[in-house]
Amino acid sequence: MLLESRDLTKAFGGLVAVNQLSMTVEKGTVLGIIGPNGSGKTTFFNLITGMIPSDSGKVIFNGEDITKLRPHRIARLGVGRTFQIPAPFSKMTVLENVMVSSFIHTSSMKIAKKKAWEVLEKVGLDEKADFQVLNVTLEDRKRLELAKALAIEPSLLLLDEVMSGLTPVEVKSAIHLIRQMHRQGLTIIIVEHVMDVILSLCDRVAVLDYGRKIAEGTPQQIVNHPEVIRAYLGERYRARS
Ligand code: ADP
Ligand code: MG
Repeated sequence: MLLESRDLTKAFGGLVAVNQLSMTVEKGTVLGIIGPNGSGKTTFFNLITGMIPSDSGKVIFNGEDITKLRPHRIARLGVGRTFQIPAPFSKMTVLENVMVSSFIHTSSMKIAKKKAWEVLEKVGLDEKADFQVLNVTLEDRKRLELAKALAIEPSLLLLDEVMSGLTPVEVKSAIHLIRQMHRQGLTIIIVEHVMDVILSLCDRVAVLDYGRKIAEGTPQQIVNHPEVIRAYLGERYRARS
C-alpha cells in the first residue's frame, strides 16, 4: 500500500468538506476520484499534501505517518500534485518554473536545470522551455503543471482536473502522457470530470458526495452503481442490458 487515509476529516466552519474519508491506494495503480463540485476532492488533495491541516484522521504514505508534516516535507518524500487552479510565475519562463520544483532536492543551479530539462522533455514542453509562461497555450500550461509535479520526483502523483478546458484531441494526448507516467512506475490519483478519462485510465474509482465516499470499485462497477448514478453520473454510462 502506498497511500492510506484513515477517517480523514476537515470542516470549514459548519461545512464538513471531507468527512471520515478512508481510502487506500496500492502501489502501481491508478485511482480515480469523481463526485459533484464541492464534494471534497480538492480538499482531500490539500489534506494529503499538507496544504491544510486536518481536524482528525491520519494520512500514511509509504508506511510513514505524514498527517502533521509540512507541504515541502511531504513533497520531498515523493508526493507530487498539480493544482486545479494553477498559479505559475507567469513572467518567468517555462524552464524557470519547473526549476522552482527541482530545487526541492538540490541547491545546485546546474542540477536543478538539468532535472527541469528532463521533465520538460518528458511532457513535450522542451521546445517551449524559454517561453514566458504568459505566452503559452492552456494545453501547455497544463503540461507545465504536470512538469512541476514531476520535477519533485514523486512516487505518488495527484492530478486535480488536469484535463478541464482541453479539446478532445488534447485530452487524448494528455491521457497518453499520463499512461506513460504510469508505465514508468508512478502511482496516480486522478480527479476528473471527464468520464472517458476515468474509464480509460483507472484501476479503481472512488465517488465522493458531500465529503463522504459513497462508492468504490472498478470503473464498470461504478458506472452501474445506483447511488452514483443518482448523485453524479446520471444514466449516460450505464451498461445496457
Ligand atoms: P471539489 O474539489 O470536490 O469541487 P472542494 O474540496 O474544493 O470540492 O470543496 C469542498 C467544500 O469545501 C466546498 O463546499 C467548498 O466551498 C468548501 N471549501 C473548500 N476550501 C475551503 C476553504 N478554504 N474555506 C472554506 N470553505 C472551503
Ligand atoms: Mg476541486
